[in-house]
Amino acid sequence: MTEKTLAAPFRFSGVALHTGAQVEVEVAPAAAGAGIVFVRDGIEIPAVAENVVETSRATVIGSRGATVSTVEHLLSALFGMRVDNARIAISGPEVPVVDGSAQWFVGQIERVGVRELGVERAAVTLDAPIVERDGDRLIVALPADRFSVRCIVDFPHPVGSEYLALTIDEATYAREVAGARTFGYLHEVEALRARGLAQGGSLENAVVFGPDGPLQTLRWSNEVVRHKMLDLLGDLALVGAWPQCEIVAVKSGHALHARMSSRLRERLLSKPLSEVSPS
Ligand SMILES: [Zn+2]
Repeated sequence: MTEKTLAAPFRFSGVALHTGAQVEVEVAPAAAGAGIVFVRDGIEIPAVAENVVETSRATVIGSRGATVSTVEHLLSALFGMRVDNARIAISGPEVPVVDGSAQWFVGQIERVGVRELGVERAAVTLDAPIVERDGDRLIVALPADRFSVRCIVDFPHPVGSEYLALTIDEATYAREVAGARTFGYLHEVEALRARGLAQGGSLENAVVFGPDGPLQTLRWSNEVVRHKMLDLLGDLALVGAWPQCEIVAVKSGHALHARMSSRLRERLLSKPLSEVSPS
């Protein structure tokens, strides 16, 4: 595999989920070795595990006082479509949620095209498992000759348990993962709104589950675990290389994903990273 970038830039703007602010974004090609770099207020924020500053509700990266929140869906689209290098200029603190999935980003990547850069892409390989846990939450990376992911979620009623296993390539990502939307519970949305958060949230950019089931039509019966995989792939983009391993994630979230990305990145760089900030 060789490194890739976009063949041309694409732009979008939209509402930030938590602040409701309008944000402009340009995703542009970048040279081999550049990686994925956000640029806010003239400050470059490489999308790598050591720049994760918060993981409580979304993945937030930062550098030299500048931060960008909710990077995971855009990063997931770039990772899933194997775009290794891109420069992302953003005018505000948070990547717009669009429809709560990565489908629109994938459509734009397919529209502008992807260009090979003729440089061999770095991959992380393992000779022993890596295990990260937090209570009954678990993420494991196992040695393997190709990248695959298994996700298990177990949420309160009415979502319940869902399972999904995929070997990730561009076609599988676009078809099986990209369209799965963010989800939440009606009571959580009401509580967030009461605290002044989720101002940009609506039934247009998240699946909302009420006591009796989803308020909208689901795109898949297991859309929740598909979105979990979407988030996980976005967080694994922070390794900055192709993870040639099998990932098993049980009830995981952004905090555990970031810890695994740090461990894989340590292996890539052959040196320990400073601890990722706790959520
Ligand atoms: Zn998400």
